[in-house]
Amino acid sequence: MDIGVPTEIKNHEYRVGMTPGGVKELVRDGHRVLVQSGAGAAIGLLDEDYRAAGAELVTDVAELFSRAEMIVKVKEPQAEEYRRLRPGQVLFTYLHLAPDLPQTQGLLDAGCTAIAYETVTDRQGGLPLLAPMSEVAGRMAIQAGAHCLEKAQGGRGVLLGGVPGVAPARVLVLGGGVVGINAARMALGLGADVTLFDKSLPRLKELDGLYGPGLKTLYSTGDAIEAELPRADLVIGAVLIPGAAAPKLLNRDMLKLLPKGAVLVDVAIDQGGCFETSRATTHRQPTYEVDGIVHYCVANMPGAVARTSTFALTNATLPFIQALANKGWRRALQDDEHLARGLNVHAGKLCYQAVAEAHGMPH
Ligand code: NAD
Repeated sequence: MDIGVPTEIKNHEYRVGMTPGGVKELVRDGHRVLVQSGAGAAIGLLDEDYRAAGAELVTDVAELFSRAEMIVKVKEPQAEEYRRLRPGQVLFTYLHLAPDLPQTQGLLDAGCTAIAYETVTDRQGGLPLLAPMSEVAGRMAIQAGAHCLEKAQGGRGVLLGGVPGVAPARVLVLGGGVVGINAARMALGLGADVTLFDKSLPRLKELDGLYGPGLKTLYSTGDAIEAELPRADLVIGAVLIPGAAAPKLLNRDMLKLLPKGAVLVDVAIDQGGCFETSRATTHRQPTYEVDGIVHYCVANMPGAVARTSTFALTNATLPFIQALANKGWRRALQDDEHLARGLNVHAGKLCYQAVAEAHGMPH
């Protein structure tokens, strides 16, 4: 199969849909991989690396789209990209179609077969192609939070790990899923005093078993969170209710309970945020202050570490890309119900119920 990997054109997107290592695997399976010249340059994946892995470098994006039988990307196609897609061509990337009518219509009009990373499932009921970005965001939340706690950033001037003779910072992690546990792990690694909240008792039991007494766990109620705020330095928002807006766990009044200069990192901002005072920010201007509390609410945190994110994403997508390329998309989806959950659009029809319902369209 001819597989195309174009340069991402969304604003400030530096990730790329495939690493040279991924190219090598596909070439070994007998496929041809067309990589747009410069696609990985911003993150140090150079044309010569792709060429050495066996890719064919293509300068003209129109040629890449017209020759490829499958396009592998990172972000949802932009208008000039979905106009290049055609019937019979497979698109495998993040789509997030439910809130995006123009893109949905564009893919329907193109007649292509669009398989979305974010709706592929796994045997445990998880989302294996979203998880790597949650891992990145969770770990980054502590890095960002530690920076914001510095005095010059508006923080209260606290070092997460403390030093001998000085207590470590207190970190509250709200939500113990993929983001939450990665944040907790990083904070524990830096020597912070970490308390994690979740609504799921089985999850709290699992994490307690894994981390032992080093990680404090609390059942998430408004009272329990409120009681911990007066001594908190850093609060990470990492909750998710699938398919719904994030629940608001801290309202504006509750900010008064926090010490001045405490930091809130709302990772759940892409679902509306779990603090009442959160509003989405960008890497260019990541923070703002409300009532003396620093807020960090960047909606695409993994974009800041695009190189790590690219490798993490390809690790997760590659087995699916190989299945699609080796078997053809129909057989690959027949053989794997979890990959089949990724099918969102085919030949001008919506194939994913939640997306169809969001747009009031048939499926
Ligand atoms: P997940 O499903 O793995 O975990 C969510 C956890 O929240 C679950 O364990 C659930 O039991 C818990 N939860 C639900 N309601 C709760 C409540 N009231 N109190 C405490 N816990 C509660 O989800 P995830 O992959 O960890 O993602 C978390 C959020 O981070 C999502 O909104 C996701 O979209 C977002 N995210 C943001 C970025 C970014 O760049 N900002 C990147 C990746 C993920």
